[in-house]
Amino acid sequence: MSKRIYYTGSGLDRADRLRGDTHWVADRLTDATTCVLPVWRDLNLVAADPLYLSGDAARNVIERADEIVLLGLRGETAFFAADVSSVDEVAAAEMGAPGKFTDLRTCGSTFPLDDGSILAYAKGMLVWHRRHRFCGDCGHPTLSAEAGHLRKCTNADCAKPHFPRTDPAVIMLVTRPGPDGGSCLLGHKPGFLPGMYSTLAGFVEPGESLEDTVAREVFEEAGVQVADVRYRASQPWPFPASLMLGYRAQATTFDIKINPEELSDAAWFTREDIARMPENGKRLPRPDSIALWLIDEWLAET
Ligand SMILES: [Zn+2]
Repeated sequence: MSKRIYYTGSGLDRADRLRGDTHWVADRLTDATTCVLPVWRDLNLVAADPLYLSGDAARNVIERADEIVLLGLRGETAFFAADVSSVDEVAAAEMGAPGKFTDLRTCGSTFPLDDGSILAYAKGMLVWHRRHRFCGDCGHPTLSAEAGHLRKCTNADCAKPHFPRTDPAVIMLVTRPGPDGGSCLLGHKPGFLPGMYSTLAGFVEPGESLEDTVAREVFEEAGVQVADVRYRASQPWPFPASLMLGYRAQATTFDIKINPEELSDAAWFTREDIARMPENGKRLPRPDSIALWLIDEWLAET
C-alpha cells in the first residue's frame, strides 16, 4: 500500500515565512508568471487549459477579487486563490472562459493529484474567509492579513487574531473476523447516490479523543461496539471545511441496529459481496474519497 489520497500533498511550498512580507506579496500579484485560482461562490474554475490563470487573465481576477490568499510556491512561481463571488454569473462566466466554475466534488478525481490538492486548498481557504468575516468574540468585522492566512478583528479593544480552521471528522472501516478474510461494515445514508454503501463517519465533539468519536459514532449509527481503533490516514475535505481522519476498528458485537436518522441501511460485506456489488445494484463510494481508500486497503489484504 498504498495509493495516494486525493487532495493531499499539493507539492507547494506554503511559504509561511513570506506571508508577512507585504512588498514581496504585492510584487508576486503583478508578476506575469504568477498563477491564480479563482473561486466563485464555492465553485472552482476548472476545465481550463492551462488550469491556472496567469498574465492578463490573472490580473483581471486579482483586480476584482474579494479576498486573495497566497497558497504557496512551486519553484519560483507563486500560487494565489482569489474569491470572485461578488461578480455576477455572467461576469464570472466571462472571467473564467474557456474554463467553467464547477463543484470540485463532481470532478476532483479527474485532475492530476497535485492539481486536485491545490484546487481543494484554494476552496478550503476561501470558504474559511467567507465564514469568518465577523469576529466570533465581539461581532465586529474582521480583515484579512498575512497574505490571507489570518483574519484580525477590527475592534481595537478586541483585536483578536483568527486563524484558518478545519473541522475534524472521523471516518472508519469497521471489520469483523470470519471465513475468507471476514467482512466490513458499510452503510447507506439517505443523501447518498442510489445504491452507494460507504464507511461510517462523524464529527468530533469537544471533550472526545478521536478514538472515542470512532466508537461513539459506530454505536450511534449502527449499534455495533468496536475495539482496537487504529489510525490509518487523513484527507482534507473542503466540502465545506473538514479534515477526515481515517481509522480501522474491530467490531466486538456484530448485530446491526441502524439509527434511521443517520442511515437507511447498513450491512456486513465480504470481499465477494463487494465484488458482486454492480450486479446487485450497489456501488462503493466516490473515487476521490478516503472512504474508498480505506475500503481498498482492506480489500487488498489477504
Ligand atoms: Zn473582536
